[in-house]
Amino acid sequence: MEAHAINPWVAFAYLVAGICFILALRGLSSPATSRQGNRYGMIGMTIAVVTTLLTHEIASLPEILGAIAIGGGVGFVIARRIKMTAMPQLVAAFHSLVGLAAVLVGIAAYYNPAAFGILEPGGLDIFKGSRIEMGLGVAIGAITFSGSVIAFAKLNGNMSGSPILLPGRHVINLSALVAIVALVGLFHLNTPGLFWAIVLLSFAIGFLLIIPIGGADMPVVVSMLNSYSGWAAAAMGFTLHNTAMIVTGALVGSSGAILSYIMCKAMNRSFISVIAGGFGAETGPSGGGEAREQRPWKRGSAEDAAFLMKEAETVIIIPGYGMAVAQAQHVLREMGDQLKAHGVNVKYAIHPVAGRMPGHMNVLLAEANVPYDEVFELEDINGEFAQADVAFIIGANDVVNPAAKTDKSSPIYGMPVFDVDKAKTIFFIKRSMGGQGYAGVDNDVFYMDQTMMLLADAKKMVEDINKALAD
Ligand code: NDP
Repeated sequence: MEAHAINPWVAFAYLVAGICFILALRGLSSPATSRQGNRYGMIGMTIAVVTTLLTHEIASLPEILGAIAIGGGVGFVIARRIKMTAMPQLVAAFHSLVGLAAVLVGIAAYYNPAAFGILEPGGLDIFKGSRIEMGLGVAIGAITFSGSVIAFAKLNGNMSGSPILLPGRHVINLSALVAIVALVGLFHLNTPGLFWAIVLLSFAIGFLLIIPIGGADMPVVVSMLNSYSGWAAAAMGFTLHNTAMIVTGALVGSSGAILSYIMCKAMNRSFISVIAGGFGAETGPSGGGEAREQRPWKRGSAEDAAFLMKEAETVIIIPGYGMAVAQAQHVLREMGDQLKAHGVNVKYAIHPVAGRMPGHMNVLLAEANVPYDEVFELEDINGEFAQADVAFIIGANDVVNPAAKTDKSSPIYGMPVFDVDKAKTIFFIKRSMGGQGYAGVDNDVFYMDQTMMLLADAKKMVEDINKALAD
């Protein structure tokens, strides 16, 4: 594959692809426009791929098309089969592939720069431009790869979600990062034998950076690795002089960084403390679980919930991971419709880290056609619980746990949570008193005077409430 002198049509096609990607990001920022955003993304990617195939000298078109067909086929099957609850680990797995692709392209370009058109004419081993971007590309790619593999294993339950804390980890990590920067600098000066040192050290640092991060901080890790995968692609775009890769990589890198920032803000974490790892390690994800006391709690029924909600003025519904597991979003929307028919003001409250991936609840509610104007973000609705008659918690737990406000030893301490305890009545759907949220901590809301526990699968319970409402 040889890069051509900059052809204005190629530049134009890449520009159009870049604009499509920007429109895609814009569309994906709201559930109402997300389908359109997705379409823009697909169009942009088709333009970028076709332009690259048409304007570069392809060594073997059948091999490339065969690889696209196999990769596309595997992606299609996975996308059809994947459960919504397994999305975070799938996203982590896909990030690992982006990182690995950057490393493999870097290795290929390092050993055969002429094939990529990045060798100075007549030069023996002199890349056009500098080797800094190649060094950075493989370094970030390798960190993304090994970090994402660990994130996948933690999210998929192959590895404990607890932080694994090595003694002196901050010193080790910092020294390794400094060493990578120094190695990239020396690699640029053409010091022999450093390419593989950068790759291997970066694989190790990706592993070391993610193992100490645990529990409720995983959402930040996933969006951070998303950002890294973008920067790796952008660096490889500079290496290969490919504008489309630079633009796409920069968009993914910066949007992932913004998302990480938003997630950190949502959980009241400092970005540095999450990246440095081990946050919440004092208690770990099972913190508080062992010493659970037997406290009195009240059990409610579908009929109780139907009766009280029918009479209510305002009901605020808080969905969480359990709603996704039970796939209860459609019956929940039917419940909302029934309540509205009784004159109840129904609102849905979405926590930024509810579920297991950013935007998880928004996607599910949009799928069930819940009107967007009934869906509110944490900061917009939290002040309304004091006036609400009912807080209806369906499969959420950590995001309504007051320990985040009061218990300094809790792994979720500091994360803003819904003030459900201020509502007159709380209905709390979960399957058992034993099951805990992601962070593995007990929840005082179960035992409050105004709380009625609705212990059942979320879908089954809401179906029963719907029947009772219809009677
Ligand atoms: P939680 O994980 O805190 O709680 C889920 C609750 O759902 C549990 O109480 C569980 O109890 C219940 N549940 C599970 N299955 C069912 C079912 N079929 N029917 C009824 N209830 C069910 O969920 P939240 O959404 O409140 O919090 C999200 C947590 O996940 C946060 O700690 C967040 O940091 C973390 N996280 C978020 C990510 C993101 O990007 N959003 C990514 C990774 C982690 P029981 O077993 O008794 O039914």
